[in-house]
Amino acid sequence: MAIFLIIVLQNLNGIPMLKQILFAVSLLLTLGIFAYSFKRYYLFFKLTKPFEVKDFGLRLKIMLTVAFGQKKILRKPVVGLIHALVFWGFLVITIGSIEMVIDGLFRSERVLGSLGAFYTFITASGDIMAFFIAFAMILFLYRRIFMKVKRFDGIEMTPKSHIDANIALTIILLLMISLIGMNTFYVAEKINSGESIVGFYPISQYIAALFSTWSYHSLHLFHEINWWSHILLIFFFANYLPYSKHFHVYSSIPNVLLSRLEPLGQLYNMEAITKEVQLMMDPNAAFTDPPEEEEAAIERFGVKDIEDVSWKNYLDSLACTQCGRCTDACPANITGKKLSPRKIIMDVRSRMEEKGPGIIKNGKEFSDGKSLLGDQITAEELWACTTCNACAQECPVNINQPSIIIDMRRYLVMEESAAPTELNTIFQNIENNGAPWQYSQDDRMNWAEELYINA
Ligand code: SF4
Ligand code: SF4
Repeated sequence: MAIFLIIVLQNLNGIPMLKQILFAVSLLLTLGIFAYSFKRYYLFFKLTKPFEVKDFGLRLKIMLTVAFGQKKILRKPVVGLIHALVFWGFLVITIGSIEMVIDGLFRSERVLGSLGAFYTFITASGDIMAFFIAFAMILFLYRRIFMKVKRFDGIEMTPKSHIDANIALTIILLLMISLIGMNTFYVAEKINSGESIVGFYPISQYIAALFSTWSYHSLHLFHEINWWSHILLIFFFANYLPYSKHFHVYSSIPNVLLSRLEPLGQLYNMEAITKEVQLMMDPNAAFTDPPEEEEAAIERFGVKDIEDVSWKNYLDSLACTQCGRCTDACPANITGKKLSPRKIIMDVRSRMEEKGPGIIKNGKEFSDGKSLLGDQITAEELWACTTCNACAQECPVNINQPSIIIDMRRYLVMEESAAPTELNTIFQNIENNGAPWQYSQDDRMNWAEELYINA
């Protein structure tokens, strides 16, 4: 493959249009596969339940601080700063990738060079960031392969998850190596031909000096090899991401934008239940017929399977980086319970991949005889949650793990009457005494009898 690429590249200069045609075909292929993946996710989202989001002003502020400012990641000074620099570096390098697409399509070279000082800034920071990211990837790979970091382990972290993470890190490393190679041979080629260099490459220019004895032809060939390797890796990576844990590269920023605004401990009311209570308080309302669509909308209380989750729950699952910070902070997990909030979120994504295609093909009555709650997530995991919200607090991409846990508990209680014994006693007490305790309301001040306190 590499030899074939070199032969083609050696002949590109003879047929000027060939590079353009090859580039256009690769781009079309990339966009075609990307559109297929996008449509697949769009159809999955269509299976989910609605979820209201408003107040975009505040959301924008959260996106700027948590996503672009990396506020949560930076709470850990060393690893946090490395992660944040990789993220910011990618933002800068993306501008260079856009330039490569324009150059590839229109046979231009460094087309954004006309931006002047801004271009100098972008190329200089991109060059430095490429070295930094390559170094960070080697560090991250070393940490994943040779160091036993506790939060990277867990029952949900299968060998496939580890291989996926290592593949993504290796692709990023190769992307950076090819970018450095591209810059290096571009500078060397220009020095050799006496042409002016567009942009500024503070680190690559020193490596370029090592190739000062090479012929122009060799320098040009190596520039082309690195240019093509870099852009083809970008195209491959763009289509690998939707099937990888690194899908968060696309989904984490929108997820932060759409993150929860209410205080973390606040529970959502279930609309159907609120209406039931209102009816109990106002029996006359019971004789008013509810609109038909309202009656039809109540299909299930809580969440049992993937079609019961909201689009926000599903987006959460796609934004998960599998970093394990939530599980690492979870008191239930730390004290040896079966619960891992990361697993709950990962299960939502994998269940959609398992059942979603069947529903899309056969309609919403489709059943594969399994369900999210029961086959993937057990009641034991759900009831281990203390709803402390430490997981949501720690999550760098503002995923709300307790919301889906609570919705699954709601299903267990309201549809299966399967609450733990202790809770059933509390429910009975609330029903009979108007309080969670086993005493009548008349006895509630008994404890103060000899204290001379008047109720
Ligand atoms: S809310 Fe539940 S899942 Fe999250 S950290 Fe607390 S106990 Fe763990
Ligand atoms: S839910 Fe958040 S904290 Fe937990 S693994 Fe996913 S990204 Fe990390």
